[in-house]
Amino acid sequence: MTRHETPKVGPIDAASLDRLAELAVKVGLNLQPGQDLLLTAPIEALPLVRRVAAHAYKAGAGLVTPLFSDPEVALARYRHAADHSFDKAAGWLYDGMGQAFDANTARLAIVGDDPMLLANEDPDKVGRANKANSLAYTPARERITNFNINWNIISWPGKAWAQLMFPDLTEDEAVARLAQSIFAASRVDQADPVAAWTDHNARLRERSDWLNGQAFDALHFTGPGTDLRVGLADGHEWMGGASLSRNGIICNPNIPSEEVFTTPHALKVEGHVSSTKPLSHQGSLIDGIRVTFEGGRITEAHATKGEEVLRRVLDTDEGARRLGEVALVPHGSPISQSGLLFYNTLFDENAACHIALGQCYSKCFRNGDKMAPVEVAAQGGNSSAIHIDWMIGSDQIDIDGVHADGRRVPVFRKGEWA
Ligand code: ZN
Ligand code: ZN
Repeated sequence: MTRHETPKVGPIDAASLDRLAELAVKVGLNLQPGQDLLLTAPIEALPLVRRVAAHAYKAGAGLVTPLFSDPEVALARYRHAADHSFDKAAGWLYDGMGQAFDANTARLAIVGDDPMLLANEDPDKVGRANKANSLAYTPARERITNFNINWNIISWPGKAWAQLMFPDLTEDEAVARLAQSIFAASRVDQADPVAAWTDHNARLRERSDWLNGQAFDALHFTGPGTDLRVGLADGHEWMGGASLSRNGIICNPNIPSEEVFTTPHALKVEGHVSSTKPLSHQGSLIDGIRVTFEGGRITEAHATKGEEVLRRVLDTDEGARRLGEVALVPHGSPISQSGLLFYNTLFDENAACHIALGQCYSKCFRNGDKMAPVEVAAQGGNSSAIHIDWMIGSDQIDIDGVHADGRRVPVFRKGEWA
Protein backbone atom coordinates (compact mmCIF):
# COMPACT_ATOMS: atom_id res chain seq x y z
CA MET A 1 0.00 0.00 0.00
CA THR A 2 1.32 3.49 -0.83
CA ARG A 3 0.45 6.47 1.32
CA HIS A 4 -1.90 7.79 -1.36
CA GLU A 5 -4.18 4.75 -1.42
CA THR A 6 -7.14 4.34 0.89
CA PRO A 7 -7.06 1.13 2.95
CA LYS A 8 -8.63 -1.86 1.23
CA VAL A 9 -10.13 -5.21 2.23
CA GLY A 10 -8.94 -7.11 -0.83
CA PRO A 11 -10.34 -4.91 -3.63
CA ILE A 12 -13.05 -3.41 -1.36
CA ASP A 13 -12.81 0.10 0.09
CA ALA A 14 -12.44 -0.42 3.86
CA ALA A 15 -13.96 2.93 4.89
CA SER A 16 -17.14 2.29 2.88
CA LEU A 17 -17.40 -1.21 4.32
CA ASP A 18 -17.21 0.25 7.81
CA ARG A 19 -19.91 2.80 6.97
CA LEU A 20 -22.16 -0.01 5.69
CA ALA A 21 -21.68 -1.88 9.00
CA GLU A 22 -22.45 1.29 10.95
CA LEU A 23 -25.54 1.99 8.80
CA ALA A 24 -26.84 -1.56 9.38
CA VAL A 25 -26.52 -1.14 13.16
CA LYS A 26 -27.81 2.46 13.45
CA VAL A 27 -30.42 2.71 10.67
CA GLY A 28 -31.11 -0.83 9.43
CA LEU A 29 -31.53 -2.40 12.86
CA ASN A 30 -31.59 0.68 15.08
CA LEU A 31 -30.06 -1.66 17.66
CA GLN A 32 -30.88 -0.63 21.22
CA PRO A 33 -28.55 -0.70 24.26
CA GLY A 34 -28.74 -4.10 25.93
CA GLN A 35 -30.32 -5.77 22.88
CA ASP A 36 -28.77 -9.03 21.63
CA LEU A 37 -28.06 -9.52 17.91
CA LEU A 38 -28.28 -12.71 15.85
CA LEU A 39 -26.40 -12.44 12.57
CA THR A 40 -26.18 -14.81 9.60
CA ALA A 41 -23.59 -14.43 6.83
CA PRO A 42 -21.55 -16.32 4.27
CA ILE A 43 -18.08 -17.04 5.70
CA GLU A 44 -16.59 -14.83 2.96
CA ALA A 45 -18.30 -11.82 4.59
CA LEU A 46 -16.21 -12.14 7.78
CA PRO A 47 -14.59 -8.66 7.35
CA LEU A 48 -18.07 -7.08 7.31
CA VAL A 49 -19.31 -9.26 10.19
CA ARG A 50 -16.39 -8.12 12.35
CA ARG A 51 -17.19 -4.46 11.65
CA VAL A 52 -20.88 -5.04 12.43
CA ALA A 53 -19.93 -6.65 15.73
CA ALA A 54 -17.74 -3.66 16.64
CA HIS A 55 -20.48 -1.13 15.84
CA ALA A 56 -23.09 -3.26 17.62
CA TYR A 57 -21.06 -3.42 20.83
CA LYS A 58 -20.30 0.32 20.59
CA ALA A 59 -24.07 0.85 20.38
CA GLY A 60 -24.46 -1.12 23.62
CA ALA A 61 -25.37 -4.57 22.25
CA GLY A 62 -25.76 -7.33 24.83
CA LEU A 63 -24.45 -10.35 22.92
CA VAL A 64 -23.65 -10.59 19.20
CA THR A 65 -23.94 -14.16 17.84
CA PRO A 66 -22.80 -14.76 14.25
CA LEU A 67 -23.79 -17.91 12.27
CA PHE A 68 -21.82 -18.60 9.09
CA SER A 69 -22.58 -20.57 5.94
CA ASP A 70 -20.05 -21.88 3.44
CA PRO A 71 -20.60 -22.81 -0.22
CA GLU A 72 -18.14 -25.74 -0.09
CA VAL A 73 -20.01 -27.25 2.85
CA ALA A 74 -23.31 -26.80 0.98
CA LEU A 75 -21.89 -28.49 -2.13
CA ALA A 76 -20.35 -31.32 -0.09
CA ARG A 77 -23.88 -32.27 0.93
CA TYR A 78 -25.06 -32.53 -2.69
CA ARG A 79 -21.98 -34.52 -3.70
CA HIS A 80 -21.80 -36.99 -0.83
CA ALA A 81 -24.88 -37.05 1.44
CA ALA A 82 -27.30 -40.01 1.49
CA ASP A 83 -30.43 -39.48 -0.60
CA HIS A 84 -32.88 -39.70 2.33
CA SER A 85 -31.03 -36.89 4.15
CA PHE A 86 -32.32 -34.24 1.72
CA ASP A 87 -35.62 -34.09 3.60
CA LYS A 88 -33.77 -32.93 6.73
CA ALA A 89 -33.34 -29.41 8.09
CA ALA A 90 -31.84 -27.91 11.25
CA GLY A 91 -35.18 -27.39 12.99
CA TRP A 92 -33.48 -27.16 16.38
CA LEU A 93 -31.54 -24.13 15.14
CA TYR A 94 -34.65 -22.32 13.88
CA ASP A 95 -36.52 -23.16 17.12
CA GLY A 96 -33.60 -21.50 18.92
CA MET A 97 -33.82 -18.46 16.65
CA GLY A 98 -37.53 -18.24 17.51
CA GLN A 99 -36.64 -18.30 21.23
CA ALA A 100 -34.01 -15.62 20.70
CA PHE A 101 -36.54 -13.37 18.92
CA ASP A 102 -39.04 -13.94 21.75
CA ALA A 103 -36.31 -12.62 24.06
CA ASN A 104 -36.09 -9.44 21.88
CA THR A 105 -32.93 -10.40 19.96
CA ALA A 106 -32.51 -8.33 16.76
CA ARG A 107 -31.82 -10.08 13.44
CA LEU A 108 -29.28 -9.14 10.76
CA ALA A 109 -28.87 -11.14 7.54
CA ILE A 110 -25.86 -10.50 5.33
CA VAL A 111 -26.41 -11.93 1.84
CA GLY A 112 -23.85 -12.37 -0.92
CA ASP A 113 -23.84 -16.03 -1.85
CA ASP A 114 -23.22 -17.43 -5.32
CA PRO A 115 -26.65 -17.12 -7.03
CA MET A 116 -25.78 -20.18 -9.16
CA LEU A 117 -24.24 -22.36 -6.45
CA LEU A 118 -26.67 -25.25 -6.93
CA ALA A 119 -27.34 -24.74 -10.64
CA ASN A 120 -25.74 -28.06 -11.59
CA GLU A 121 -27.10 -30.12 -8.70
CA ASP A 122 -29.99 -32.57 -8.87
CA PRO A 123 -33.20 -30.44 -8.95
CA ASP A 124 -35.03 -33.15 -6.98
CA LYS A 125 -32.56 -32.90 -4.11
CA VAL A 126 -32.48 -29.10 -4.31
CA GLY A 127 -36.28 -28.95 -4.23
CA ARG A 128 -36.58 -31.35 -1.30
CA ALA A 129 -33.87 -29.60 0.71
CA ASN A 130 -35.45 -26.19 0.06
CA LYS A 131 -38.87 -27.44 1.11
CA ALA A 132 -37.58 -29.08 4.30
CA ASN A 133 -35.66 -25.94 5.16
CA SER A 134 -38.59 -23.58 4.44
CA LEU A 135 -40.90 -25.62 6.68
CA ALA A 136 -38.36 -25.94 9.51
CA TYR A 137 -37.59 -22.21 9.34
CA THR A 138 -41.21 -21.36 10.28
CA PRO A 139 -40.55 -20.38 13.95
CA ALA A 140 -37.93 -17.85 12.81
CA ARG A 141 -39.73 -16.68 9.66
CA GLU A 142 -43.05 -15.98 11.42
CA ARG A 143 -41.41 -13.72 13.98
CA ILE A 144 -39.56 -11.85 11.23
CA THR A 145 -42.51 -11.39 8.84
CA ASN A 146 -44.68 -10.35 11.81
CA PHE A 147 -42.01 -7.78 12.75
CA ASN A 148 -41.91 -9.06 16.34
CA ILE A 149 -38.40 -7.65 16.42
CA ASN A 150 -36.28 -5.14 14.48
CA TRP A 151 -34.45 -6.76 11.56
CA ASN A 152 -32.32 -5.83 8.58
CA ILE A 153 -30.73 -7.33 5.47
CA ILE A 154 -27.55 -5.94 3.87
CA SER A 155 -25.18 -7.50 1.39
CA TRP A 156 -21.55 -8.45 0.92
CA PRO A 157 -19.86 -8.33 -2.52
CA GLY A 158 -19.17 -12.07 -2.77
CA LYS A 159 -16.63 -13.23 -5.37
CA ALA A 160 -18.86 -15.73 -7.20
CA TRP A 161 -21.77 -13.28 -7.21
CA ALA A 162 -19.52 -10.49 -8.57
CA GLN A 163 -18.17 -12.71 -11.36
CA LEU A 164 -21.67 -13.74 -12.41
CA MET A 165 -22.58 -10.03 -12.73
CA PHE A 166 -19.33 -8.95 -14.40
CA PRO A 167 -18.03 -11.96 -16.36
CA ASP A 168 -15.65 -9.84 -18.46
CA LEU A 169 -13.72 -8.40 -15.49
CA THR A 170 -11.02 -10.03 -13.40
CA GLU A 171 -12.16 -11.33 -10.02
CA ASP A 172 -10.76 -8.30 -8.15
CA GLU A 173 -12.24 -5.82 -10.63
CA ALA A 174 -15.62 -7.56 -10.45
CA VAL A 175 -15.66 -7.51 -6.64
CA ALA A 176 -14.64 -3.82 -6.65
CA ARG A 177 -17.48 -2.98 -9.12
CA LEU A 178 -20.07 -4.91 -7.11
CA ALA A 179 -18.85 -3.33 -3.87
CA GLN A 180 -19.24 0.17 -5.38
CA SER A 181 -22.73 -0.75 -6.62
CA ILE A 182 -23.73 -2.00 -3.17
CA PHE A 183 -22.33 1.11 -1.46
CA ALA A 184 -24.13 3.44 -3.91
CA ALA A 185 -27.47 1.60 -3.69
CA SER A 186 -27.17 1.54 0.12
CA ARG A 187 -26.36 5.30 0.16
CA VAL A 188 -23.12 4.81 2.13
CA ASP A 189 -21.27 6.69 -0.63
CA GLN A 190 -23.08 9.88 0.42
CA ALA A 191 -21.62 12.44 2.84
CA ASP A 192 -24.15 11.64 5.57
CA PRO A 193 -25.74 8.21 4.97
CA VAL A 194 -27.99 8.45 8.04
CA ALA A 195 -29.45 11.79 6.83
CA ALA A 196 -29.79 10.38 3.31
CA TRP A 197 -31.92 7.54 4.67
CA THR A 198 -34.08 9.97 6.65
CA ASP A 199 -34.84 11.88 3.40
CA HIS A 200 -35.37 8.69 1.43
CA ASN A 201 -37.79 7.27 4.03
CA ALA A 202 -39.80 10.51 3.87
CA ARG A 203 -40.17 10.16 0.07
CA LEU A 204 -41.30 6.54 0.33
CA ARG A 205 -43.75 7.62 3.03
CA GLU A 206 -45.34 10.17 0.65
CA ARG A 207 -45.98 7.43 -1.92
CA SER A 208 -47.48 5.01 0.59
CA ASP A 209 -49.62 7.79 2.13
CA TRP A 210 -51.07 8.59 -1.33
CA LEU A 211 -51.88 4.92 -1.98
CA ASN A 212 -53.43 4.55 1.48
CA GLY A 213 -55.59 7.60 0.78
CA GLN A 214 -56.81 6.00 -2.48
CA ALA A 215 -57.59 2.67 -0.73
CA PHE A 216 -57.82 0.84 -4.06
CA ASP A 217 -59.79 -2.38 -4.32
CA ALA A 218 -57.34 -3.81 -6.88
CA LEU A 219 -54.35 -3.02 -9.09
CA HIS A 220 -54.48 -3.92 -12.77
CA PHE A 221 -51.08 -4.62 -14.41
CA THR A 222 -50.80 -4.65 -18.21
CA GLY A 223 -47.75 -5.09 -20.43
CA PRO A 224 -46.06 -7.64 -22.69
CA GLY A 225 -47.17 -11.10 -21.51
CA THR A 226 -49.02 -9.59 -18.55
CA ASP A 227 -52.70 -8.88 -17.89
CA LEU A 228 -53.11 -9.29 -14.16
CA ARG A 229 -55.69 -8.01 -11.72
CA VAL A 230 -54.37 -8.12 -8.16
CA GLY A 231 -57.17 -7.68 -5.63
CA LEU A 232 -55.91 -6.03 -2.44
CA ALA A 233 -56.64 -7.43 1.04
CA ASP A 234 -59.42 -5.89 3.12
CA GLY A 235 -57.96 -3.14 5.30
CA HIS A 236 -54.59 -3.40 3.55
CA GLU A 237 -52.01 -0.73 4.28
CA TRP A 238 -49.11 0.34 2.05
CA MET A 239 -45.68 0.44 3.66
CA GLY A 240 -42.22 1.55 2.56
CA GLY A 241 -38.86 2.39 4.07
CA ALA A 242 -38.75 2.60 7.84
CA SER A 243 -40.97 0.24 9.78
CA LEU A 244 -42.17 0.14 13.41
CA SER A 245 -41.64 -3.32 14.89
CA ARG A 246 -43.87 -4.80 17.57
CA ASN A 247 -41.05 -4.33 20.11
CA GLY A 248 -41.42 -0.57 19.56
CA ILE A 249 -38.20 -0.12 17.56
CA ILE A 250 -38.23 1.60 14.14
CA CYS A 251 -35.99 -0.32 11.72
CA ASN A 252 -35.22 -0.27 7.98
CA PRO A 253 -35.61 -3.96 7.10
CA ASN A 254 -34.01 -3.80 3.65
CA ILE A 255 -30.88 -1.87 2.65
CA PRO A 256 -31.27 -0.93 -0.14
CA SER A 257 -35.03 -0.40 -0.42
CA GLU A 258 -36.94 1.52 -3.10
CA GLU A 259 -40.33 -0.21 -2.86
CA VAL A 260 -43.75 0.57 -1.45
CA PHE A 261 -45.65 -2.65 -0.83
CA THR A 262 -48.84 -4.11 0.54
CA THR A 263 -50.84 -7.32 0.93
CA PRO A 264 -52.87 -8.70 -1.99
CA HIS A 265 -56.07 -10.63 -1.34
CA ALA A 266 -55.11 -14.33 -1.38
CA LEU A 267 -58.38 -15.28 -3.17
CA LYS A 268 -58.70 -12.33 -5.59
CA VAL A 269 -55.92 -12.49 -8.17
CA GLU A 270 -56.94 -13.14 -11.78
CA GLY A 271 -55.11 -13.29 -15.11
CA HIS A 272 -51.60 -14.01 -16.29
CA VAL A 273 -48.21 -12.48 -15.65
CA SER A 274 -44.66 -12.88 -16.99
CA SER A 275 -41.43 -12.25 -15.10
CA THR A 276 -39.15 -9.46 -16.36
CA LYS A 277 -35.92 -10.52 -14.62
CA PRO A 278 -34.44 -13.89 -13.67
CA LEU A 279 -34.99 -15.01 -10.10
CA SER A 280 -32.17 -16.51 -8.07
CA HIS A 281 -33.71 -18.79 -5.46
CA GLN A 282 -31.43 -20.54 -2.95
CA GLY A 283 -28.68 -21.18 -5.47
CA SER A 284 -30.93 -21.96 -8.47
CA LEU A 285 -31.84 -19.62 -11.32
CA ILE A 286 -35.46 -19.48 -12.47
CA ASP A 287 -36.09 -17.44 -15.63
CA GLY A 288 -38.90 -16.72 -18.07
CA ILE A 289 -41.68 -17.37 -15.54
CA ARG A 290 -45.25 -17.32 -16.91
CA VAL A 291 -48.13 -18.10 -14.58
CA THR A 292 -51.93 -17.97 -14.68
CA PHE A 293 -54.04 -17.14 -11.61
CA GLU A 294 -57.64 -18.17 -11.05
CA GLY A 295 -59.37 -17.22 -7.79
CA GLY A 296 -56.01 -16.13 -6.39
CA ARG A 297 -54.37 -19.51 -7.05
CA ILE A 298 -51.72 -20.31 -9.65
CA THR A 299 -53.31 -22.91 -11.92
CA GLU A 300 -50.60 -22.99 -14.58
CA ALA A 301 -46.88 -22.29 -14.29
CA HIS A 302 -44.02 -22.36 -16.75
CA ALA A 303 -40.41 -21.21 -16.77
CA THR A 304 -37.90 -21.27 -19.60
CA LYS A 305 -35.19 -22.08 -17.04
CA GLY A 306 -35.51 -23.81 -13.65
CA GLU A 307 -39.10 -24.95 -14.22
CA GLU A 308 -38.57 -28.03 -12.02
CA VAL A 309 -37.36 -25.89 -9.09
CA LEU A 310 -40.32 -23.52 -9.62
CA ARG A 311 -42.77 -26.45 -9.51
CA ARG A 312 -41.20 -27.66 -6.26
CA VAL A 313 -41.54 -24.16 -4.80
CA LEU A 314 -45.23 -24.03 -5.75
CA ASP A 315 -45.79 -27.44 -4.12
CA THR A 316 -44.30 -26.35 -0.76
CA ASP A 317 -47.80 -25.84 0.68
CA GLU A 318 -51.22 -24.45 -0.30
CA GLY A 319 -50.17 -20.81 0.27
CA ALA A 320 -47.13 -21.15 -2.00
CA ARG A 321 -49.47 -20.83 -5.03
CA ARG A 322 -50.96 -17.56 -3.80
CA LEU A 323 -49.62 -14.02 -3.44
CA GLY A 324 -48.40 -12.50 -0.17
CA GLU A 325 -47.03 -9.18 -1.45
CA VAL A 326 -47.37 -6.70 -4.27
CA ALA A 327 -44.78 -3.93 -4.54
CA LEU A 328 -44.38 -0.83 -6.70
CA VAL A 329 -40.95 0.40 -7.81
CA PRO A 330 -40.50 2.95 -10.61
CA HIS A 331 -38.32 1.99 -13.56
CA GLY A 332 -36.33 5.17 -12.83
CA SER A 333 -35.19 3.91 -9.41
CA PRO A 334 -31.41 4.30 -8.94
CA ILE A 335 -30.86 0.53 -8.88
CA SER A 336 -32.83 0.09 -12.10
CA GLN A 337 -30.96 3.00 -13.73
CA SER A 338 -27.64 1.33 -12.90
CA GLY A 339 -28.66 -1.06 -15.69
CA LEU A 340 -27.24 -3.97 -13.70
CA LEU A 341 -28.88 -7.31 -13.22
CA PHE A 342 -27.88 -8.43 -9.72
CA TYR A 343 -29.34 -11.98 -9.61
CA ASN A 344 -30.11 -11.07 -5.99
CA THR A 345 -33.62 -10.30 -4.81
CA LEU A 346 -32.51 -7.63 -2.34
CA PHE A 347 -31.36 -5.56 -5.33
CA ASP A 348 -33.47 -6.72 -8.28
CA GLU A 349 -36.73 -6.33 -6.32
CA ASN A 350 -35.77 -2.68 -5.83
CA ALA A 351 -35.36 -2.15 -9.57
CA ALA A 352 -38.82 -3.33 -10.65
CA CYS A 353 -42.42 -3.81 -9.56
CA HIS A 354 -42.77 -7.27 -8.09
CA ILE A 355 -45.08 -9.79 -6.51
CA ALA A 356 -44.23 -12.39 -3.89
CA LEU A 357 -45.52 -15.92 -3.64
CA GLY A 358 -46.37 -17.09 -0.14
CA GLN A 359 -46.44 -15.48 3.28
CA CYS A 360 -47.86 -11.97 3.64
CA TYR A 361 -46.65 -9.26 6.04
CA SER A 362 -49.27 -8.79 8.77
CA LYS A 363 -47.86 -5.27 9.16
CA CYS A 364 -49.42 -4.36 5.82
CA PHE A 365 -52.87 -4.04 7.41
CA ARG A 366 -54.42 -1.16 9.31
CA ASN A 367 -53.70 -2.06 12.99
CA GLY A 368 -51.82 -5.08 11.60
CA ASP A 369 -49.48 -5.20 14.59
CA LYS A 370 -52.46 -6.07 16.81
CA MET A 371 -54.01 -8.66 14.47
CA ALA A 372 -53.95 -12.41 15.19
CA PRO A 373 -53.17 -14.79 12.28
CA VAL A 374 -56.88 -15.78 11.95
CA GLU A 375 -57.85 -12.13 11.50
CA VAL A 376 -55.10 -11.64 8.90
CA ALA A 377 -56.44 -14.66 7.00
CA ALA A 378 -60.06 -13.46 7.26
CA GLN A 379 -59.08 -10.19 5.56
CA GLY A 380 -57.35 -12.00 2.70
CA GLY A 381 -53.77 -12.28 3.99
CA ASN A 382 -51.97 -15.36 2.68
CA SER A 383 -49.89 -17.74 4.79
CA SER A 384 -47.13 -20.08 3.64
CA ALA A 385 -43.70 -21.40 4.57
CA ILE A 386 -42.22 -19.42 1.67
CA HIS A 387 -41.98 -15.75 0.68
CA ILE A 388 -40.39 -15.39 -2.74
CA ASP A 389 -40.36 -12.09 -4.62
CA TRP A 390 -40.14 -12.05 -8.41
CA MET A 391 -40.01 -9.18 -10.79
CA ILE A 392 -42.86 -8.24 -13.14
CA GLY A 393 -42.06 -4.55 -13.75
CA SER A 394 -40.34 -2.88 -16.68
CA ASP A 395 -40.54 0.35 -18.70
CA GLN A 396 -43.46 -1.22 -20.59
CA ILE A 397 -45.79 -1.86 -17.64
CA ASP A 398 -48.93 0.19 -16.99
CA ILE A 399 -50.80 -0.05 -13.70
CA ASP A 400 -54.29 1.20 -12.92
CA GLY A 401 -55.69 1.47 -9.43
CA VAL A 402 -59.26 0.17 -9.46
CA HIS A 403 -61.79 1.44 -6.91
CA ALA A 404 -64.61 -0.75 -5.56
CA ASP A 405 -67.10 1.10 -7.82
CA GLY A 406 -64.97 0.30 -10.90
CA ARG A 407 -63.44 3.80 -11.19
CA ARG A 408 -59.85 3.63 -12.49
CA VAL A 409 -56.90 5.86 -11.55
CA PRO A 410 -53.58 5.69 -13.46
CA VAL A 411 -50.84 4.67 -11.00
CA PHE A 412 -47.96 3.74 -13.35
CA ARG A 413 -47.47 4.53 -17.05
CA LYS A 414 -44.53 2.97 -18.93
CA GLY A 415 -42.96 1.92 -15.66
CA GLU A 416 -43.10 5.33 -13.92
CA TRP A 417 -45.46 6.88 -11.37
CA ALA A 418 -48.32 8.41 -13.38
ZN1 ZN B 1 -40.86 -6.51 -1.84
ZN1 ZN C 1 -40.99 -9.56 -0.43
